[in-house]
Amino acid sequence: MSEKIMNARKRIAVIAHDRKKAELIDWATDNKEILSKHILYATGTTGKMLEEALHIEVVKLLSGPLGGDQQVGSLIAQGEMDMMIFFWDPMESQAHDTDVKALLRVGAVWNIPIACDRATADFLVTSPYMNTEYVSNLPDYSSYLNRKII
Ligand code: PGA
Repeated sequence: MSEKIMNARKRIAVIAHDRKKAELIDWATDNKEILSKHILYATGTTGKMLEEALHIEVVKLLSGPLGGDQQVGSLIAQGEMDMMIFFWDPMESQAHDTDVKALLRVGAVWNIPIACDRATADFLVTSPYMNTEYVSNLPDYSSYLNRKII
């Protein structure tokens, strides 16, 4: 088991599907004070809306369907993202459903906290770990990496 240290200032990925964007912006506005202490990343359209609503800087990636979800997944896999607020739409399929699935999977692979709805997002950002260093245990993938291929 290896460890990853999350700094007190977290790198947070924020994504919302189109019909969840209003809810996300409402939630982010309620939590502006907390969010402004951290480093926000977002897929393109979500990021633009966050900047306009919150007047705080957001690192904007590509729009989700154009590769933004995969960019977030890549940052997670490289250990460069600490947590994710991902309001995906459970009532509508997306053109990039495969990317959504891949992103949720890679988040679980690397044991990062993920909130997919407002209640979980509330619990996450009010955790005492939000303002302190946190030592995250990374799953042990050595037996997978050392597997014999015949
Ligand atoms: P968007 O992407 O923020 O660019 O709309 C979100 C998504 O659908 O993944």
